[in-house]
Amino acid sequence: MRLLDLIFPPRCGGCGRHGQDFCDSCATALQPVPVTSLHGIPLVAARRLTGPLQAAIHTYKYRPRPQLAGSLTQPLRRAAIAAGLTLPALTFVPLHPRRQRERGFNQAERLAGQLAASLQVPVVGGLSRLRPTPAQVGLGQAERQINVAGAFRWTAPEPPPQGLGLVDDVCTTGATLAAVARVVAEAGGSIGAFLVLAVAQTLPGPLVTSPGTGRLSANSCLGDCE
Ligand SMILES: [Zn+2]
Repeated sequence: MRLLDLIFPPRCGGCGRHGQDFCDSCATALQPVPVTSLHGIPLVAARRLTGPLQAAIHTYKYRPRPQLAGSLTQPLRRAAIAAGLTLPALTFVPLHPRRQRERGFNQAERLAGQLAASLQVPVVGGLSRLRPTPAQVGLGQAERQINVAGAFRWTAPEPPPQGLGLVDDVCTTGATLAAVARVVAEAGGSIGAFLVLAVAQTLPGPLVTSPGTGRLSANSCLGDCE
């Protein structure tokens, strides 16, 4: 046990009990999610966004408790391995610099770092958020797509690699993931999989992309990730 843990015993981000960052009882309450796809790209989520996981992600981002990233990433690592994904590197959904200064860290970047270390692949930066999109909470799918349109750009001098894993914390309608995947493709790379801690309860599966349009069909992803 670390000295710091003796002085400040960790509390579960899900239920608040002392002892672990995410306790066994909260971990066993999580509902597994089958691999789905979004715009033809596999969407791997550790769990549904409910109960203790929702509480833990909220604590992680807004309290904030960046150290929860290690525990929260574990079920996602297992889901990525179970999905048989071969990803050469990971990248992450960027925050606007102002939002990142306010929060003190980028929750997606931290998750990507933990996940990449356990999968033994590098993290590739290069995405930038050009404007601080308003909070997505309470917006519908169409509003979210407008909200994130033109919000991202690949700004690294080298083009992005092929088959990158794109990490974010939550997928609610898929608008953010889809917008970032488009930007990566326009810069000459590609996303091999979306990797998120949790998908919203309303996100049905499997998700469907309308042939030829590249747009989501009416019964597909309702989600986005903010
Ligand atoms: Zn707990």
